[in-house]
Amino acid sequence: MKRILVVSPHPDDESVGCGGTVRRHVLAGDHVHVLFLTRGEGGGHGRPPQETATLRKAEAEEAGAILGVAELEFWEEPDGALSAEAALVSRLGERIAALAPSLIYVTHDQETHPDHQAAAQAVRLAVGGVDPDARPDVLTYEIWTPLQQVDEIIDITSVVAVKRRAIRAHASQCDVTEIRAMHRVHTRRRSSRSRADSSRRRPPLSTSSTCRGGRSATRRRRPRRAACSPRRHR
Ligand SMILES: [Zn+2]
Repeated sequence: MKRILVVSPHPDDESVGCGGTVRRHVLAGDHVHVLFLTRGEGGGHGRPPQETATLRKAEAEEAGAILGVAELEFWEEPDGALSAEAALVSRLGERIAALAPSLIYVTHDQETHPDHQAAAQAVRLAVGGVDPDARPDVLTYEIWTPLQQVDEIIDITSVVAVKRRAIRAHASQCDVTEIRAMHRVHTRRRSSRSRADSSRRRPPLSTSSTCRGGRSATRRRRPRRAACSPRRHR
């Protein structure tokens, strides 16, 4: 059994970005812990922040139950102002040491959403402080902005229906955005890319990676970027 840590800047990134991969880990018997850095209080689209935070926490809990996540953890970093400052890096380092994951998933650092960038930077800095002998691998996932370099493709065809259910659990976001439509677009793009990569017989890549959302996922050497616009996704 592997211990997996998913670092999600906001409630819904874990489902949109790597819900299929999470489900695969669960079915493989792995222990998945999801850490939400913010409560997503800025994504209320007219709702008061506290009400939004409460609602999005409940939605994340429902999505986690659908995916089979073992543990959820909610921090209260400021939505829309997340920063890879020393205090956050230190706290992350302590949690990583305590949870001892062998693998961490986080958004990639070239995302246009500043919170997603900050999450990637904070995880990278925190992992850098871990004893090399116990240092987990880090895979990055995209939300809206396509990865520009893909090192690994993971087929989540068998679990994509569960992933979609998890995404729908984030109803407050689905109500005001086109998350599901975007998911379909990304799925088609990733599938096409996977077929193209196979035809070129590219060698498997490795080291660090990326998890993705559609029916495929990617692994890369360094965290990269994808994007979700602040307007639609906080
Ligand atoms: Zn987000």
